[in-house]
Amino acid sequence: MMVTYYVNKQAQNNGDHEVHKSDCSWLPSVENRQYLGSFTNCHDAVKEAKKYYSQSNGCKHCSLECHTG
Ligand SMILES: [Zn+2]
Repeated sequence: MMVTYYVNKQAQNNGDHEVHKSDCSWLPSVENRQYLGSFTNCHDAVKEAKKYYSQSNGCKHCSLECHTG
């Protein structure tokens, strides 16, 4: 199943830019998110996010399998 992903333009305190699914309750507001595209898994979404922010990381709420650290 294809899911739309976004990356947070604002870094967390540790410098991570979190990658979210479009239906995540932690999804940033429109002005604070960068559209990544539709992917079948969060690994591809994080890979795309790293083109914008080298320190991208999966959200632990919606993309736990891609969350590290
Ligand atoms: Zn999320």
